Amino acid sequence: MKAAVVNQFHERLELKEVPIPEIGHGEVLVRIKACGVCHTDLHAAHGDWPVKPKLPLIPGHEGVGVVEKVGEGVTSLKVGDRVGIPWLYWACGECEYCLSGWETLCQQQKNGGYSVDGGYAEYCKAPAAYVARIPDGLSDVEAAPILCAGVTTYKALKMADLAAGEWVAIYGIGGLGHLALQYAKAMGYRVIAVDIHDEKLKLAKELGADLTVNGAAVDPAQAIFEQTGGAHAAVSVAVTKKAFEQAYRSVRRGGTLVVVGLPNDQLPIPIFDTVLNGVSVKGSIVGTRKDMQEALDFAARGKVKAMIETQPLEKINEVFQRMERGQINGRVVLTID
Ligand code: NAD
Ligand code: ZN
Ligand code: ZN
Repeated sequence: MKAAVVNQFHERLELKEVPIPEIGHGEVLVRIKACGVCHTDLHAAHGDWPVKPKLPLIPGHEGVGVVEKVGEGVTSLKVGDRVGIPWLYWACGECEYCLSGWETLCQQQKNGGYSVDGGYAEYCKAPAAYVARIPDGLSDVEAAPILCAGVTTYKALKMADLAAGEWVAIYGIGGLGHLALQYAKAMGYRVIAVDIHDEKLKLAKELGADLTVNGAAVDPAQAIFEQTGGAHAAVSVAVTKKAFEQAYRSVRRGGTLVVVGLPNDQLPIPIFDTVLNGVSVKGSIVGTRKDMQEALDFAARGKVKAMIETQPLEKINEVFQRMERGQINGRVVLTID
């Protein structure tokens, strides 16, 4: 099968023929039709994080396709079903986190396109119990970005614990952020969109942001306090430390900063202000299988719609280059045929 492979960090991905994966007990083989490109894939290809991915690696955790084979013991899926293979590729099902509906925190989890091969290929195998079923109302391409960008931002907004009408600041209107803002509107919140590129802010306005701020032109925290009295929560899905510091300062007393973006960096937080202002800082990692069903349902009902540019798998190196420069508006979805 054709696949895009990371052989070494910081090198171009190699388009090559590799064997179709052999499935085992409880697994399905999926013919991948579309796979979104997440900034995490770029972090993986660069070896940016303290925990490194396997090498060689087939990245991709927004792969959507059709079940072509089912392994022994699989009863929940049949040939022809449409599924997505997410970042949360597998969890143990038995630890305290799995038992309490927090399988995203399972310490034994496997991650699609990181610790195991993912969706930048014609085929990908996955444990039947952890794939997402794609609702009828969504095409493969439309569903792909929901598999990570969608579920992650939907979960982050749940973690923000807001009431309808409250203000949420979204830092970084990229693949994740442009969906975060739509989930936030659908959940009844008022949205402040912050980015450093004007085209992204233009998109944010079109998608219903109540306020947009260019963080390169003004101090966004100050602008947010002046115009709203401070955000009730901020969700940072940006890729630079500066955005996280600004997001922290954007939150009013009693508010919450939800940390989602993953630059390999530190976020220094003033102890005095955090205590006196009663600010919460929470990390949020993708979403559970239940969050995934809900996130897909919002999309199937047309409440959120990813802005998508399709590119053939062969163009992945060009796509990564543009992502690095902040030149992608919305999400790129690779098509594979
Ligand atoms: P992306 O490249 O599509 O978007 C990043 C956006 O951040 C761009 O629009 C860019 O202009 C903006 N940005 C950069 N610097 C900024 C600044 N100083 N202020 C405001 N905006 C700024 O990336 P993406 O696919 O949306 O992923 C974003 C991050 O989220 C990555 O680090 C990725 O690894 C991480 N991520 C985390 C999770 C999780 O579960 N926690 C899941 C998926 C992705
Ligand atoms: Zn992702
Ligand atoms: Zn577990």
